[in-house]
Amino acid sequence: MAKTKKKKKNNKAQQQPNYLAQTMDIALTIAVAAGMLYMGYRVVAGGVKIDQGFSEGSSTVTVPEETTEAAPEFQSVETANSVVHEGALILVNNYYALEEEGKNLVSLYDVKMEKESHSFSVRDGDLMVKQEMADSIIAMLDDFYEATYDDNILVISGYRTQEQQQSLYDQYENQEEGEETEQRAAKPGYSEHQTGYGVDLSLYDGSDYDGTGIYSWIDEHCAEYGMILRYPEGKTDQTEIMFEPWHYRYVGVPHASVIMDKGMCLEEYIDYVKEFSFEGEHLMVSDAAGKAYEIYYYPADSNQESTLVPLPTGAENYTIQGNNVDGFIITIETGEAADADPDESAADESSTEDEASSEAPAEESEAAPDAEEAAAENE
Ligand SMILES: [Zn+2]
Repeated sequence: MAKTKKKKKNNKAQQQPNYLAQTMDIALTIAVAAGMLYMGYRVVAGGVKIDQGFSEGSSTVTVPEETTEAAPEFQSVETANSVVHEGALILVNNYYALEEEGKNLVSLYDVKMEKESHSFSVRDGDLMVKQEMADSIIAMLDDFYEATYDDNILVISGYRTQEQQQSLYDQYENQEEGEETEQRAAKPGYSEHQTGYGVDLSLYDGSDYDGTGIYSWIDEHCAEYGMILRYPEGKTDQTEIMFEPWHYRYVGVPHASVIMDKGMCLEEYIDYVKEFSFEGEHLMVSDAAGKAYEIYYYPADSNQESTLVPLPTGAENYTIQGNNVDGFIITIETGEAADADPDESAADESSTEDEASSEAPAEESEAAPDAEEAAAENE
């Protein structure tokens, strides 16, 4: 039964030989030489043929034409359709609710302590975010400190549970007339804060974070750490959230690079990526560190529980993430990593000088719930 499914997919793909024509010879040669079988993943299409290549004699590098009838032009990774609602690219707004909640959350404060970062403060030890977001924001704010010697940033809001979002929503509902309420606080289930990939920044001295002055460094550099300004100025038509200079969202470096470079909001980017299909042109991205990526979209197979997501033969480091709408965004690392951060340890040392003044205690209460309310939450 599984075989039939395979075959069908293969045939379908053979009607779209563009990609094949460009890459098959090289890809087959690489596959035979290096024996790439994507360890840890279930290789559905193509794997069999690659194996045969080995047994028939791997000394012959050129694969004969006649075997190409059923030869692999790509391989597919069977991906559960539930993955559509997972990962750092999920779009959560007034139209697309969060479906997966509360996985892999860490205390930002705890991670900050583990990393001995002293360049910013966190509301309290209960502020949770996704691990990638924690790593990203700590790296960014350490570098921000190194660049500006400013340790005034306070991360004031991160992950919210359904209950917390409900209570925030109710609170605004009591204050405002119906229509305005939806602009002041997102409906429970529709707030990006429930993803764990969003944070709000404030300032430890009590002022609002507005992203101006020295803080413009953050907008200029956040993409290098995989973060975007989620609710930019002039995008309220798409986001339905007013300009929020304090709200940052983790999406991953290549995607953040495109979004910030092109001045997009996430809604626009999710649409934009759909222009890049597996069979057609892929979105080629180079990040600030010199890494190259290839990105494309593949729709979920709505007739099945899972989707055979195609990958170019030879793709090695890749992720398959959901857009929370209707499909998957495939990101392949294609280039050599540039020399990452040679000064990183030196930066850590220099930032420890101001440790005492910049540190927020784990159970700090002075900035706690009042401060979050004061930050004028809109999402
Ligand atoms: Zn926010």
